[in-house]
Amino acid sequence: MSCKIDYQALPHLLENRVVLVTGAGDGIGRAAALQYAQHGATVILLGRTIEKLERVYDEIEALGGPQPAIFPLNFEGATLSDFDDMAKTLDKEFGRLDGLLHNAGLLGRITPFEQYDAELWEQVMQVNINGPVWMTQALLPLLKQSDDASIIFTSSSVGRKGRAYWGAYSVSKFATEGFVEVLADELEHQTNIRVNTLNPGATRTQMRRSAYPGEDPATLRTPNDIMPTYLWLMGPDSTGVSGQKFDAQPARV
Ligand code: NAP
Repeated sequence: MSCKIDYQALPHLLENRVVLVTGAGDGIGRAAALQYAQHGATVILLGRTIEKLERVYDEIEALGGPQPAIFPLNFEGATLSDFDDMAKTLDKEFGRLDGLLHNAGLLGRITPFEQYDAELWEQVMQVNINGPVWMTQALLPLLKQSDDASIIFTSSSVGRKGRAYWGAYSVSKFATEGFVEVLADELEHQTNIRVNTLNPGATRTQMRRSAYPGEDPATLRTPNDIMPTYLWLMGPDSTGVSGQKFDAQPARV
């Protein structure tokens, strides 16, 4: 597993690229959307809370980035036909997709498995793995239209080593790691699409606060601090790298 925390992106790294970010309204997804736009990408902001997406849209416009697009979608309850409609809309508007950052995520509850609620388990699996998998299937034809497309799935340290009480969240991230191995192997000799997993590591967001309420947020890296690896994996400097596991920051000691 490697980390590119010292990577320095050129200002026009993502110029003329169309990049979709899920969960773009808050936390790490918001930072990635802003950074991608700042480096020249046309960013499609996908998420479930339109006001948050609109704020990010305005921030991108204020930065002078290419005009973004908003795509409201709640992974809970999203169907295959929603993903097909999304692919049709993006095809009509853009004709291709050069990058896809699967970032949206749900923590669920940190609780002993014996007490884990079955409905919540299903929700976490839907948002963290099942929805992103079917969305990827719908978007593959558009990704194939790109000269050099990058798909990034967001993982977690509990998706690489199980930890007590992390339940569906941990299992969904293990499934993410497995799916990326399968997809990368399938795509290896066929296309120009690379697919990798990225573990952000402990980062100062609402999700981290929910998981570790007693922790001092000042001890954590911010979403902006961890963007070098997000930029490296999305841009052409990582062309040819596929099926790998990355960390956005060194592990905490
Ligand atoms: P966050 O601040 O809670 O942001 C999560 C994002 O996902 C929000 O934009 C949220 O939208 C969106 N989202 C949640 N449920 C959704 C749904 N049903 N449909 C569409 N969008 C949905 O969390 P974060 O820390 O930035 O996490 C980003 C990713 O990094 C996640 O995949 C998480 O598992 C992973 N991660 C984070 C850490 C960390 O320390 N922060 C560590 C390891 C992995 P709303 O704002 O509208 O709710």
